[in-house]
Amino acid sequence: MTEQVTRATFDEVMVPNYAPSAVIPVRGEGSRVWDTENNEYIDFAGGIAVTALGHSHPKLVDVMRQQAGQIWHLANVMTNEPALRLAKKLTEKTFADRVFFCNSGGEANEAAFKLVRRYAFDHYGEQKHEIIAFNKSFHGRTLFTVSVGGQAKYKEGFEPTPGGISHCDYNNIDQLKALISDRTCAVVMEPIQGEGGIIPADVEFAKQVRELCDEHNALLVFDEVQSGVGRTGTFFAYEQLGVKPDVLTSAKALGNGFPVGAMLATEKAAKSLAFGTHGSTYGGNPMACAIAEAVIDIVDTPEVLEGVEKRRQLFVEGLNAINEKHNLFKEVRGMGLLVGAEVVDAYAGKAALFIKAAAKEGLFILVAGPNVVRFAPSLIIPEEDIKEGLARFEKAVAAVIADNA
Ligand code: PLP
Repeated sequence: MTEQVTRATFDEVMVPNYAPSAVIPVRGEGSRVWDTENNEYIDFAGGIAVTALGHSHPKLVDVMRQQAGQIWHLANVMTNEPALRLAKKLTEKTFADRVFFCNSGGEANEAAFKLVRRYAFDHYGEQKHEIIAFNKSFHGRTLFTVSVGGQAKYKEGFEPTPGGISHCDYNNIDQLKALISDRTCAVVMEPIQGEGGIIPADVEFAKQVRELCDEHNALLVFDEVQSGVGRTGTFFAYEQLGVKPDVLTSAKALGNGFPVGAMLATEKAAKSLAFGTHGSTYGGNPMACAIAEAVIDIVDTPEVLEGVEKRRQLFVEGLNAINEKHNLFKEVRGMGLLVGAEVVDAYAGKAALFIKAAAKEGLFILVAGPNVVRFAPSLIIPEEDIKEGLARFEKAVAAVIADNA
C-alpha cells in the first residue's frame, strides 16, 4: 500500500537542509505542472535551469523507456554504447577531446579541480597547486567545491576546508593580475555567474583571463553547469566569449532532470586523470547517457537555439513593461533564458518574497541571491505560457508591493 505523505512529513523525516514550499508537484507536461490538489502552475524555474526541454518530453520519455528495457547500469570495468556515443557528440561539438562522466555539477567540478591539481603536479611539481576563483561564484556543495566557490556562507562550520584557493572580484582583471602567479594551477569561472546574481562575464575580461592563464601555465576551467546545454542560446556559453577553456563542466540540463554530469577536457589536460586516479560508480551509466544523448540531439539544433533569443525578448519586454508600472527592478539582465531582475533597494534582501507570491498565482520562479529574481524556463516554453506566466508574475508583484506598502 502507498503511504500517505504530506508537506508535514518533510519536517518529520527529512534532514532540514532545505525549506521546501507547501506545493508538492506530482505531474508535469511541457512548462505546466500540477500539484497534489490538481492546482496548475507555469514553470519559469525549470528545476533550477535543469528541465531545458520541459517536463515529460515525449522523445525523452521514449528513450528512457527503451533504455530501461535494455540495460540500466554497468560497472566502470565495462564501457557502454550510450556513453561512447554521448562522449563522441560532446567532443565533436566543443573544444574538448575527452570526457569524464559523473552524476551532478558538484561532482563534475570536483573532477575538474582534481584534474587541474594533478595536471600541474605532473607537469610542474606540487608547488603549483593554487586555484583562483571568483567572489560570489558557485560550484557545488562538496567540501572542495564550496571551498572554490566564492560564497563564505557555504563554508561556515565546515572548516578546515582545502587550502591553496583564493578569490577575487569577477570582471576585475586587475585583481586577477595581482593574484595570479606561477604557483597558480587553474582559474575557475562561470561564463555567467548564476547563483551569484546572473552576472555575465565581459568578453574582454574573459579574453584577458585566457591570456593570463597562458602566461602562467595555468589551466582555464569554465563551469557551465548552469549556463550550458543551450541555456544562453549557444550550445555552451563560452562560444559567445570568443575564448576556449582547457576544462569545462556540465550537468543540470544535460540530463533534463535525469542525474548526469560531465567534465570535458583537452587531450593534454585529460591525460593527467590517468588510470586509477579518479572514478564514480554511476558516472557514465547507460541510462543517464542515453537520455543525455537524446537531450543534446534536440537542444543543439537551430530550431531550439534560435528560439532561445526569441523567447528571451518576450521575457525582457514583459519584465520591462511590469517595471514601468511597478518600479521594482534596477536592471533586467542575463544571457538567453537565464534572466535575472535585480530588485530596487527598497526590496534589497527580499527577492524570495516573490517566489512565495508567484506560487500563490500559479507560477514557479527562482531567486539568485538575496536581490535578484531569476527565470530559467524550458528552452522550448510555448509563447502563450510566457505571456500567461508573466501576467501571473505581475499579479504576484502587485501583491508583494501591496503587502509591503
Ligand atoms: N556549478 C554551477 C554554476 C551551478 O549553478 C551549480 C548548481 O546550481 C553547481 C555547480 C552544482 O551542481 P549540482 O547541484 O548538480 O551539484
